[in-house]
Amino acid sequence: MSVTDRLDDKSLFRTDSFIDGQWVSGEGGVEVLNPANNAVIATVGDVGEAGARKAVAAATRAFESWKKVSPFERARLLMNWYKLIHENAKDLATLITLEMGKVNKEAQGEVIYGASFIEWSAEEGKRVHGETLSTPFPGSRGWTIRQPIGVVGCITPWNFPNAMITRKCAPALAAGCTMVIKPAPETPLSALALAELARRAGIPDGVFNVVCGDAPAIGGVLTSSSDVRMVGFTGSTAVGKLLMKQAASTVKRVALELGGNAPFIVMDDADIEKAADGVIASKFRVSGQTCVSANRIIAQPAIADKLVAALEARISKLKAGDGFASDTDVGPLIHMTAVSRVDKLVSQAREQGARIVTGGKSLADELGGSFYAPTLIDGADPSLDVSCSEIFGPVCSVYRAESEADIIKLANDTPYGLAAYIYTNDVGRVHRLSEGIEYGMIGINAPMVGAASTPFGGVKESGIGREGGKWGVEEFTELKYVLLGGVEG
Ligand code: ADP
Repeated sequence: MSVTDRLDDKSLFRTDSFIDGQWVSGEGGVEVLNPANNAVIATVGDVGEAGARKAVAAATRAFESWKKVSPFERARLLMNWYKLIHENAKDLATLITLEMGKVNKEAQGEVIYGASFIEWSAEEGKRVHGETLSTPFPGSRGWTIRQPIGVVGCITPWNFPNAMITRKCAPALAAGCTMVIKPAPETPLSALALAELARRAGIPDGVFNVVCGDAPAIGGVLTSSSDVRMVGFTGSTAVGKLLMKQAASTVKRVALELGGNAPFIVMDDADIEKAADGVIASKFRVSGQTCVSANRIIAQPAIADKLVAALEARISKLKAGDGFASDTDVGPLIHMTAVSRVDKLVSQAREQGARIVTGGKSLADELGGSFYAPTLIDGADPSLDVSCSEIFGPVCSVYRAESEADIIKLANDTPYGLAAYIYTNDVGRVHRLSEGIEYGMIGINAPMVGAASTPFGGVKESGIGREGGKWGVEEFTELKYVLLGGVEG
């Protein structure tokens, strides 16, 4: 079945870049694969460096008028976009499942989650205001204003091809910025469908541009152009570091949402069944391909075996399959390279004496796509790659630590610091552990933390800046201070 056969609104299937309100075809083409069967579903043109320059020029021109549009009018247009996304949620979710394999119910959840940032930001954009200041200068008055930072370049990943765009663009547009978005080559279709809906919503030409193609070429323009004042990126820590270096040449603001290696701490007073449910929700969503996925389950020894048994019972029942099948729990990985990478991590753990409790093998041949079996490992050494690197697959390992000091040390023994989870009913432990671990977001007895109203982001090598809530909108503004002298009285 072709992509359009699956869509109610066939005009949401776009394969050209969207620049200055026009669909622009590119050179050659990048193939988009359905990871559930590795079939080519679309070919998207590469607009390259020239396309990126054209989009930056359009966004620069559009900024002059968009920044003057009242926040109330910007909110109205954003809410048009929000409503269109809701009306087309089924098709948008279909595109997500097709291009990156996500279980369709989760894809529908992503569309609604992504849209919630538009609604929140539309409202919050009306509340961007300054303060009056006390000054030491006689006869003077001081105040601050917040203004949109300008043109923002956005580079987004494939794991949330819809929501990672709205989570950046909604606050930026609400604040009065204009955007050039480079989606992941694996998932351009979701980005282009969002562009089509932004166009229908009445968002003016040049305000929201999507450029597809060669990542280093487009990224080079977005990070080096002096017309781009900020780069927002979600993706790997390695690419984040590179973009930060490139952005240094023009001292751009960078907002980076990078990798994670989330600890999931289970204390001996916790409800073990609820903790096991929490691991499943946190780890196996998007087949473990989220930066906030629980990677390392750190359990106190008294309850560790019971937790392993509870996890085994759940994980061994998870069904891998096509994201469109109604009984699928875990979809495919993004591509076969990801399957090989995950299998290498698991094989190394096995060779080094860890016990593979369940799973531990590729299902690619069996299921005909980029599948890996949901896997539980027990007794892996914390120095192994499966413990130290971001797994980005349906694999988790259980570690044991007794004292709070050892638990905190193990949890912090990583360059990452994005999300962490703690299961305990002891209020003292809640405070000591959440203060002791170095993470930007902590879920206590809660396996998912992200929402439009809350600050999403990490510390250490997990990133810079926050998305969501009032902080998400502030990121896209400059704080300006004004002093007025010669005031009588
Ligand atoms: P992953 O390995 O999960 O794909 P990446 O960090 O490589 O994560 O990709 C995230 C985003 O960064 C994608 O849109 C990708 O195309 C983009 N990207 C990768 N390399 C570069 C680069 N050198 N310059 C700009 N963007 C890049």
